[in-house]
Amino acid sequence: MGDVNYEKMVDRIASSASLEREEIQRRVDAKCAKLSGLISKEGAAQVIAAELGINFDNEKFKIEELVPGMRKVNFVGKVINVFPVRTFERNGQENKVANMVVADDTSNTKVVLWDTHHIELVEKGEVKEGFVIEVLNGSSRDGEVHLGSFSELKLSSEELGEVKTEKVVKEKVISDFRVGDSASVRGFIVQSFDPRFFTVCPECKKKAVQEADGFLCNEHGKVAPEKRALINIVLDDGTETIRAVLFHDTIPKLGLANLEDVDLVQQEKQNLLGKEMIFMGDVRMNNFFNNPEFIVRDLKELDLDELIGTLEKT
Ligand SMILES: [Zn+2]
Repeated sequence: MGDVNYEKMVDRIASSASLEREEIQRRVDAKCAKLSGLISKEGAAQVIAAELGINFDNEKFKIEELVPGMRKVNFVGKVINVFPVRTFERNGQENKVANMVVADDTSNTKVVLWDTHHIELVEKGEVKEGFVIEVLNGSSRDGEVHLGSFSELKLSSEELGEVKTEKVVKEKVISDFRVGDSASVRGFIVQSFDPRFFTVCPECKKKAVQEADGFLCNEHGKVAPEKRALINIVLDDGTETIRAVLFHDTIPKLGLANLEDVDLVQQEKQNLLGKEMIFMGDVRMNNFFNNPEFIVRDLKELDLDELIGTLEKT
């Protein structure tokens, strides 16, 4: 989206919300400032629109522009993945739900189908991988687009060239984290806990439990286990804090070289406090604490040149 689109969008929001144009612009600027340059003006305008409960009924969006909270979203995309239809029981009734991933040239999103007619299209193979579809009246929440009985799903004759198939990791602030998000955040380590060790089956990498006569994998029986470590930290980016988990392969990137050396670990743990890094991972629900947590898949040092570049662009 260019400036023209941004201006158009501000006009649209202003007239839909019966607010002054300047007021919308002020809110967009405030949102951008709050998110410290992590979001474009267009993105911020979308958020403001969603906050005001505005929907752009006949407007077609790029997938990248979809913001959680938007209702009645319309877009065209290519189906790049279809998951098996799942059945579940609710109030003694059997229900179905279908999931797929749809992409355009800007991004991709999970699309969740709740309507039996839509699900049937998937079951019959009338909507499948490689097909271009049009979604009308979807609702965008938690980084997914949900289609109910008021939504429309149909094949589109639009030609889409290259679509973005790689998993989209969005730069987000912690206060905007939603379960299911893949996100990248720049934050400080404000707490770090002792590493914990566990054992996994060498074949399936699932937990191997110690029994009297050795280690047991549910699937593979008696195994010679591999030792793994995890470490919990708390991240703070100024908007909120979240508990994060780092597993085996990512721990060395924190600078913890040798987890077996207890004294060294204590010292290194101390050095972590206040360290600012970029963390990439998935937000999921920790059922034990009943709180979202951040599973860190990768992390990197701040690249100052890159940061300066970003600041100059905004
Ligand atoms: Zn196993």
